[in-house]
Amino acid sequence: MSTISTLMVAPSQVVRGSGILSGSGSLVARLGQRPLLVGGDRTLQAAAPFLTEMLHGLKVVQASYRNDCCETSLAQLRQAVTDHGADLIIGVGGGKALDAAKLLAHQTQLPVITIPTSAATCAAWTALSNVYSDQGAFRYDVGLPVCPNLLLLDYELVATAPKRTLIAGIGDAIAKWYEASVSSGHSSQTLIIGAVQQARVLRDILFQKSAAALENPGGDDWREVVDASVLMAGVIGGIGGAQCRTVAAHSVHNGLTQIPSSHSMLHGEKVAYGILVQLRLEEMAANNALAVAARQQLLRFYTQIGLPMTLNDLGLEEMSVMELRQAAEFACQPQSDIHHLPFAVSPQQVMAAMVSTTAPCRRSPPEASVSPLPSKAQSPSRKS
Ligand SMILES: [Zn+2]
Repeated sequence: MSTISTLMVAPSQVVRGSGILSGSGSLVARLGQRPLLVGGDRTLQAAAPFLTEMLHGLKVVQASYRNDCCETSLAQLRQAVTDHGADLIIGVGGGKALDAAKLLAHQTQLPVITIPTSAATCAAWTALSNVYSDQGAFRYDVGLPVCPNLLLLDYELVATAPKRTLIAGIGDAIAKWYEASVSSGHSSQTLIIGAVQQARVLRDILFQKSAAALENPGGDDWREVVDASVLMAGVIGGIGGAQCRTVAAHSVHNGLTQIPSSHSMLHGEKVAYGILVQLRLEEMAANNALAVAARQQLLRFYTQIGLPMTLNDLGLEEMSVMELRQAAEFACQPQSDIHHLPFAVSPQQVMAAMVSTTAPCRRSPPEASVSPLPSKAQSPSRKS
């Protein structure tokens, strides 16, 4: 292959630790004197005590990304950059705030610092922004030419986020394995093999440590799981690049965002459910026995840590068949990553998979509960 490819592996600098923000003023000042702070109104308020000392002496203006990382908000943010004469963008928040900050920095050709306030995504790391409609429906993603200039991961700040955000981050991070192994599992390219294998290691770390991490926020396992979700998930995207793609899990997420009632659920929660849909497709369309075993393993894991397994768990029990079809059709658009599956997929198959994510993993008549297996192993149900 003689094509030129550019690697965007990692931020230029990553600083992490408890309480690191207060001591990071000189790192920030090196990149700019007139930062525009981009975040949601509530997040900026909650993060303010962590940022005061760091921003001391700089000419700072705050700007909200409002509803979403959408074209309307980005236009307003570009105006804010001009009005303030900003020379640096600082994104503070979750995936949407950080995606908006990174894309804004790219559009205005300014450096960008990312400060994640939760472990819900790896957006602080990656050279990628997802753009949504004003109403929050996924539209497209934008590959950026570089990763952020500086990532500041302050565990004290991340520990203030609701536990649910870390659970969602685990769901988003674990998807790397299920998607990368399908889209790139047969690649002979060194970097892609490396990325796929790291995705497997990441999955195993999350299987091992997530429950302990959630039981003891701020503890050693918690910190490792935060690193897994915020940093290592980003490393995999960085090394694997555009060829280490998402597959059905993220396509199902993108389809679900077309339904307004799904907007109260976090990105990683929808992606986690999307992994089960993907495995179900592999089971139904390709009769893949490995997918059955993987789904069984994930259902146990989701039960243990509280990730959603069904549309009901996502709060979508009122979803109409029309909406289900709309989500499935969006997931199956011609340019969708769902077509990285090694077989053709139709919206009807996606709909069937979406409503059967917890289907029994072994064949038995529906009413016959006389299996010698303990009931726990047959039918996973959510923890109360
Ligand atoms: Zn994701």
